[in-house]
Amino acid sequence: MKVYIDNAATTKMSRIAIDAMLPYMETYYGNPSSLHSVGQEAAEAMQKARETVAKYLGCEAREITFTSGGSEADNQAIISAATMGEKKGKKHIISTTFEHHAVLHMLDKLEKQGFEITLLDVHENGVVSPQQVASAIREDTCLVTVMYANNEIGSIQPITEIGSICKEKGVIFHTDAVQVAGHLPIHVKDQNIDMLSLSGHKFHGPKGIGALYVKKGIPLTNVIEGGAQERGKRGGTENIPAIVGMAVAFEDACEHMEIHSQKVSKLRDKLIEGLSKIPHSILNGDRNDRLPGNVNFCFEGIEGESLLLLLDARGISASSGSACTSGSLDPSHVLLAIGRPLEVAHGSLRLSLSEMNSEEEVDYILEVVPKQIEYLRNMSPIWRDLMSGKKQFML
Ligand SMILES: *Cc1c(COP(=O)(O)O)cnc(C)c1O
Repeated sequence: MKVYIDNAATTKMSRIAIDAMLPYMETYYGNPSSLHSVGQEAAEAMQKARETVAKYLGCEAREITFTSGGSEADNQAIISAATMGEKKGKKHIISTTFEHHAVLHMLDKLEKQGFEITLLDVHENGVVSPQQVASAIREDTCLVTVMYANNEIGSIQPITEIGSICKEKGVIFHTDAVQVAGHLPIHVKDQNIDMLSLSGHKFHGPKGIGALYVKKGIPLTNVIEGGAQERGKRGGTENIPAIVGMAVAFEDACEHMEIHSQKVSKLRDKLIEGLSKIPHSILNGDRNDRLPGNVNFCFEGIEGESLLLLLDARGISASSGSACTSGSLDPSHVLLAIGRPLEVAHGSLRLSLSEMNSEEEVDYILEVVPKQIEYLRNMSPIWRDLMSGKKQFML
């Protein structure tokens, strides 16, 4: 059996998104900046896509800027708020220790340029409290950026409350909602969100396309300099097929959100229940405030990479940590952020579901994973020390 259960890394494109894109490669291939009718057809499709994205975020079409993905949207949001802050002498930014690297690495860069960065600690359940944000805000804070839900452990943050604190204190609030868009309802106005990032390929749309919502009145700073595309805020000829594909996939995901989330969370709960039976294991992330499709465990005495290779050989595509760290042997910064010791953080498994997964697949995983863990533990010298009492179990 072949099971793809790494949907937090990326998703399979939906048929309707692919079908919606094809005409914009084959027939309506004009440049939307061209005055002729071939170009204007592309411009109209882009406008329609912008309206669709805006509709499902609860904002206006002109508040949406298309980017090359979630990373660029995060970068542009942070750079824009920092540029604005600097002009007013405000050079303090608040974020958390478990953001995506698109946020953390940009903040590192700003720190080298003289900004002061406060990274809030995350509780063991993977949630930051609104009070932590409130007490960290200072006179010179120009931005709070807190992700909506974590891509590794799936924990959902109290975004509406954080947004309301920021609004009250007059600080710009950005959220990386890449894992949430198309999976949970979003309403930027009701939730007091000033800036929000999303990415097409996390909800069955194409890769290399994303969107940044920015509340009107907040000026954007360019990341890509060039022509006057995107009201002069993002140079480069727009990727019309991808923009159309993302909008169609987003609409489809939002229209079927409830039914998909019911199906997926049922599968998730079955996986959590089954994997919890493995001795010396622990679920990462909050049991209740978590994404419908996220399962993340640490298993003591296990190397995450070895487990992944064994699972891959049995047709299961999963991940340990995030796609971004799995190429390296560094432990996940997210698992360290929630206080998992190094040894334990190395032994993580993330299974991220979509509605394309089935109950048969979940049953297969529950049959394979415990066996492979037992196999790896039986070979491990560390496990022998744990069993003999030479070393203490941490889990
Ligand atoms: C995938 C992801 C990103 C990056 O999005 P890309 O479109 O791949 O650049 C950013 N943040 C989170 C939380 C993600 O899961």
